[in-house]
Amino acid sequence: MYALVDGNNFYVSCERVFRPSLQGRPVIVLSNNDGCAIARSNEAKDLGIKMGAPWFQIRHLEKTEGLVALSANFTLYGDMSDRIMTLAAGLGPTQEIYSIDESFIGLHGVRGDLTRRAHIIRDRILRWTGIPCGIGIAPTKTLAKLANFIAKTAERKPGSYPEHLARVCNLAALSQRELEAILGATDVGEVWGVGPRIAAQLREGGIQTVLDLARMYTATVRRRWNVTLERTVREVQGFPCIDMDDVPAPKQQIACTRSFGRPVTDLAPLMEAVSEFASRAAEKLRKQNSQAGALQVFMHTSPHRAGQQLSRSVTVPLRRPTADSRLLAKAAADGMRFMYVPGFQLIKAGVFLMDLQPASVQQGELELEPEEGRDRTRLMAAMDALNGRFGKGTLHVGSTGMPGAQRTWGMRQERRTPQYTTRWDDVPVARA
Ligand SMILES: [Mg+2]
Repeated sequence: MYALVDGNNFYVSCERVFRPSLQGRPVIVLSNNDGCAIARSNEAKDLGIKMGAPWFQIRHLEKTEGLVALSANFTLYGDMSDRIMTLAAGLGPTQEIYSIDESFIGLHGVRGDLTRRAHIIRDRILRWTGIPCGIGIAPTKTLAKLANFIAKTAERKPGSYPEHLARVCNLAALSQRELEAILGATDVGEVWGVGPRIAAQLREGGIQTVLDLARMYTATVRRRWNVTLERTVREVQGFPCIDMDDVPAPKQQIACTRSFGRPVTDLAPLMEAVSEFASRAAEKLRKQNSQAGALQVFMHTSPHRAGQQLSRSVTVPLRRPTADSRLLAKAAADGMRFMYVPGFQLIKAGVFLMDLQPASVQQGELELEPEEGRDRTRLMAAMDALNGRFGKGTLHVGSTGMPGAQRTWGMRQERRTPQYTTRWDDVPVARA
């Protein structure tokens, strides 16, 4: 049995924790520089704002609908992510982090009422961090993901699903009849691993709902499509058959994750591994002509072994978006050094590249700097070390101007909220 814990409109929720005035208002978070919506509050979704909508096409809503647009604050999101992951881990004996706000929790051997337990964890995450989550529980990861979708939809659109499935949806606790009614009311395109193209093909073949998909013959699926879809169908039927190593990377992320040949305990090989993963991911990044603004590193112990479990992740914001393998590898190694805890038998680690944007975006800014082919590796290393220790922007290139309020160019400074949880100067002060 698995649970999928997933933050609701995660980036927006992080912003709302420190600016409660944003509650109930349409809020979006923009990707750096290129200005597309990468997170939307429910109110913003209700305005019809699509994921990835360019800012210039929707900015009129600022005046007409009171839309609030913020620049992405990955330092804040990464830190909040770490907090919700730590609390989510309390749900079961194992945890696999899937993205910045999603993790699968293995519930093997957990006794008692799982639904109630999930509600307790959800309430705890909300109370301790301010982030609302949805939790889906089911016998397979694909169904847990679907259950999570149902939990969120039932909460957001009353009447779409039975009310008792809102926030926490445990498909395993339903009667066969109730389960079939729910799967029959859910579009086949909502299934994890069924992309828009395959969904269209399925619909053409008369497979409209998840229930239709669950009733397909796996042999037919393999013959007409492929083994990957066959596995998805088996998962929807309730037979676990996917490992985290072969699941698709979440949208807006490039992932490189591996299980190790044998458990690793020492820091040095772990740093090596994640550096390597980051360079692989960087290759994919360059292939699609993108650059990344932040990187997340994670590691965990084996879900299948006895002994103390550990699952940690850390998000490393990059000084500037890059597709440079060296910079990304270094960031990954730094992240690993930061979160490393000795004494655990780690069996898996990985790197996610986030805040993806077109590689062309930075051109204008890059020209400001004297780049005459000189090797500035050592200079950059010294700069990064100082900035890492004393705060972003402590040492910076003169032509980029003074950081802070004086800097007026670009969206980033204009719309980004403070680093509430990671920078002393930005820690909010409570007044009586
Ligand atoms: Mg989410």
